[in-house]
Amino acid sequence: GKVAVGVNGYGTIGRRVAWAAGLQPDMELVGVVKTKPDYAAAQAMSAGIPVYVPGEAEAERFRKAGLEVSGTIRDLLREVDVIVDATPDGVGATYSKLYREAGVKAIFQGGEEASVAQVSFSALCNYDEAVGKDSARVVSCNTTGLLRSICAINSAVGVRAVNAFLVRRAADMHEVKRGPINSVVLNPPRVPSHHAGDVRTVLPWLDITTAAVVVPTTLMHVHYVTMKLKGNASREEVLDALRSSPRVLVVSASKSGVEGTSQIIDAARHIRPRGDVPELVVFEESVLSKGDEVSFIQAVHQESIVVPENVDAIRALTGLSDGEQSVKLTNYALGIGK
Ligand code: NAD
Repeated sequence: GKVAVGVNGYGTIGRRVAWAAGLQPDMELVGVVKTKPDYAAAQAMSAGIPVYVPGEAEAERFRKAGLEVSGTIRDLLREVDVIVDATPDGVGATYSKLYREAGVKAIFQGGEEASVAQVSFSALCNYDEAVGKDSARVVSCNTTGLLRSICAINSAVGVRAVNAFLVRRAADMHEVKRGPINSVVLNPPRVPSHHAGDVRTVLPWLDITTAAVVVPTTLMHVHYVTMKLKGNASREEVLDALRSSPRVLVVSASKSGVEGTSQIIDAARHIRPRGDVPELVVFEESVLSKGDEVSFIQAVHQESIVVPENVDAIRALTGLSDGEQSVKLTNYALGIGK
């Protein structure tokens, strides 16, 4: 039978993961957990997705808003094999005991400490380490982006060390109070930023340093990545390694006119659901190689890059398929790489 999936936290990530799990031939979306009876809750109900709440207090809020919920999270946990936790940073950890006691496998997000789960996960780097485990943490959007290019190049030519400068988006669409609106802010205000340590939760052997700033944009993050390789590699070898990854898109500015994040999202809005770009995007003309050093600029659509990783994590935990097959299935169902 199909693996029964529930989603706790129905925001930027949770709504997309619920949608993506519902599209997989080997999964069934049983329901989602919402705290507030807002437009996202109403949309889920209109789409026929059963909506659950954390407890009786929230059920009452929904009733007052004229919405009838399907039960509490405890009811949902009785119906699912896997719960994907997409609650805000640090909230997931407060649920981990509940998931364990319910005997349900759990997937957490990058806003949690690595210790929340048995393994930190990135499908094309360490799928096998998550197979059969009870819990996994899908690393954050920036970390997933870094790992996409690092693991693609590592499997082709070998990576010794990485240095990356991250330009982060300020907010997602619904976060009306986040900023900055007129500054470039060191975020965090120290180097190395936490992203280096987060990459090492998946690749503990890697020598990596990261620094990050946040800027007034909502669309995507942009990284300038420099790598020291295990041997010399030509620019073409590096481009081939990136192009042959199933979740990397290499775009040429001279051929497509795409020179920045707004054009990536503009193009995606015409052919992709919600204008999402779950692939890591690498700017072709930014790729530079010199001996055993390579550098390039890449863009990360923070709202969607971890979505296919969550789907693959569900397959890894439940042993539904091997990594290569899972990535293929997920990509096909979500239209990734087309
Ligand atoms: P979000 O704020 O968009 O969504 C969180 C949802 O959880 C909201 O709907 C909120 O109402 C709900 N919620 C709050 N408290 C809850 C509770 N106690 N029980 C159940 N639901 C509760 O957040 P997000 O951006 O989707 O982030 C979720 C996780 O994913 C975080 O760990 C974050 O770090 C990670 N992540 C976010 C992004 C991104 O760019 N947005 C990218 C990758 C990973």
